[in-house]
Amino acid sequence: MSAVSTPLPRRDHFINGEPVAPAEGEYFPSINPTTGKAWYEAARGSAEDVDLAVTAARKAFDVPAWRDLSQTARGRLLRKLGDLIGENAEELARTETLDNGKLLREMRAQLAMLPEYFYYYAGLADKIHGEVIPGSARTLLNYTLREPLGVCGAITPWNSPLMLTVTKLAPALSVGNTMVIKPSEHTSASLLALMPLFEKAGFPAGVVNVVTGHGAEAGGALVGDHRVAKISFTGSTATGALIGRACGERFIKATLELGGKSPNIVFADADIASASMGIVAGIFAAGGQTCVAGSRVFVHADVYDEVVQRVCERAATIKIGDPLESATELGPLAMASQLEKVEQYVAIGREEGGRIVSGGRRPPLGTGGYFYEPTVFVGTDNTMRVSREEIFGPVASVMSFTTDEEAIAMANDTSYGLAAGVWTKDLGRAHRMAAALEAGTVWVNTYRAMSPMSPRSGFKASGMGVEHGTETIREYTRLKSVWIETSDEPQGDPFVLKS
Ligand code: NAD
Repeated sequence: MSAVSTPLPRRDHFINGEPVAPAEGEYFPSINPTTGKAWYEAARGSAEDVDLAVTAARKAFDVPAWRDLSQTARGRLLRKLGDLIGENAEELARTETLDNGKLLREMRAQLAMLPEYFYYYAGLADKIHGEVIPGSARTLLNYTLREPLGVCGAITPWNSPLMLTVTKLAPALSVGNTMVIKPSEHTSASLLALMPLFEKAGFPAGVVNVVTGHGAEAGGALVGDHRVAKISFTGSTATGALIGRACGERFIKATLELGGKSPNIVFADADIASASMGIVAGIFAAGGQTCVAGSRVFVHADVYDEVVQRVCERAATIKIGDPLESATELGPLAMASQLEKVEQYVAIGREEGGRIVSGGRRPPLGTGGYFYEPTVFVGTDNTMRVSREEIFGPVASVMSFTTDEEAIAMANDTSYGLAAGVWTKDLGRAHRMAAALEAGTVWVNTYRAMSPMSPRSGFKASGMGVEHGTETIREYTRLKSVWIETSDEPQGDPFVLKS
């Protein structure tokens, strides 16, 4: 008797308020990285599916139930959605862990923050407005209107699927846009699970739509659709450059949150125990699969040996295993290709002359998952590929410096500029470093702190535009300047500018 395999559950796109099967009828497997096995199939989106989703979003943008909603009422919808996410947080967090292998407690912490994003932008919704501009002519009234853009496209990565979507969705919706989202082909499940909550919260159908599928195929179709007024993208710098170029050619706004190779700098006067744990948090939390991973560690020569020893001691005791278990500290990498990439970089680092003092191999767990040990390189310098290219895995290069100027020069000697960490007890030095480091976020005596209220942006090849905070509202609105002549007097000289 031959074994009958149970078909995998299928997940469709979500368009105009309901699941929609892919036009071409194709699905692809999504792998649980802890087991290496497929656990559902996602719809493979095509240009036809994207067309349907953008049509729904464009229609929703114009329906009175959305367009004519007062800004206060729109805020109420966002607040309700935040409440519903809170009620469903545990299920959504587990879904994310099954899809990307990150620790359940990390995903729970992210899910706990998601309602805060909606509450924040709900509160902001009715405080967004234009202003009256003073002019020299008393009778000329000049004011601005801050208007929504229309249909916004969002394209997101796999490492924090919901959080990196909500940072786009919440501000976009707060000002009256509609959205089509293309999640990573590796992590479609949690976003699809979120979709029914929009209807429950009272959003009209079509305000938020999801087309799952592959990058160039579904993502490319979204970027290329002439009705899409803006793209917000989080992902690799290479893809960001493609998308930025395409948006530039169409003269539409793009927010690009890209890769990083962030420095984490320890001065000799730092609290060495907490600085060492800050290095561990910077590179080994989430298996180094965070854009802000502190993968380049610079330690003052006087404390270098002690810091390396402390980091290696902790790295060697990190508990690797099933991310659903509460004792686990390091889950698998999110996919087989990511594991291979990390292995390749470790081999490159060795060839370049780096010496591994902790980790450097797959742990012998025998589960079929994509696990890799926390790995520490010494003997590297800032010119080597392992110190310059984003690995996106649990691999740190620890280098030494002797002066503040040297630390700044080494830290800034990178094409990226996403984040930086500084460990010092000297207040003046903390401020000097914060000013000198070329990074969108600087943490002093902490790492990976974030809030919906605090702007987040990448300098250099780490991106353009701002997410979080009030500043991001500009990314989702356009400004119109209106001039009204209030006088009934005859107009003056037609050949002279008015002001
Ligand atoms: P990726 O660039 O491979 O993919 C990101 C998204 O873009 C996916 O949805 C993918 O399907 C889509 N895509 C790929 N090619 C496309 C194309 N030609 N046209 C349109 N869409 C396309 O990135 P990834 O591997 O999913 O994510 C990891 C990267 O994301 C890392 O570089 C990381 O640093 C970065 N990241 C940045 C931030 C930040 O806030 N700056 C946050 C998280 C992750």
